[in-house]
Amino acid sequence: MADNKPRIAIFPGSFDPFTIGHASIVKRGLPLFDHIVIGVGVNESKRTLYGSDDRVEQIRQLYAYEPRISVEAYTDLTIDFAKRMSASFILRGLRSVKDFEYERDIATMNQRLSGIETVLLFTEPEYSSISSSVVRELISYDKDVSAFLPTQDNIL
Ligand code: ADP
Repeated sequence: MADNKPRIAIFPGSFDPFTIGHASIVKRGLPLFDHIVIGVGVNESKRTLYGSDDRVEQIRQLYAYEPRISVEAYTDLTIDFAKRMSASFILRGLRSVKDFEYERDIATMNQRLSGIETVLLFTEPEYSSISSSVVRELISYDKDVSAFLPTQDNIL
C-alpha cells in the first residue's frame, strides 16, 4: 500500500576500508530509496585495520555533498540499528555464490525477526573480485590500492 513515509535503507558493513565495490552498491541503491544510511558496524571482538572513527570519517567525506546519504557507526544488532534509523530496508551487495548463501540466511532471519526486507544488488562484474580483505592484504604489502578506493569525483 502506498504511503508517504520516506523509504529509508541502511547499508550495513564493516567497510574496512570502503571500496569502489561498496560505492557502486550505494550509487545503484540511491534511485530505489529516499535516503541511505551507511552503517559502519563496530564489533569490539573483530580486529580491523581502521578504527571505526576513521572508517566513518572516510565515508562521510566521500558523501559530504549528497544529503540523501548519511553515515553512522553502530554497535547493536543490524535490525535494531535499522529501526533506530527508521529504515524498512537493508541494502546489501552480492558478489558470489558464497555471498548469496550468507546473505540469504541473514536476510531470512532479519525478515522473520523484524519484518525488515533486504534488497540485494548484484555486483557490477568489474567489481566482483574487489573486497576489503584483498585491499587490506595489499596494504599490508605496501602496495598502491588507490584504484580500489573511491574518491569524491567518482562515487555518484
Ligand atoms: P560485512 O563484513 O558485513 O560483509 P563488508 O564491508 O565486507 O561488510 O561488505 C558490506 C556489503 O557490501 C556486503 O553486502 C558485501 O557483499 C557488499 N560488497 C562488498 N564488496 C562488494 C563488491 N565489490 N561489489 C558488490 N558488493 C560488495
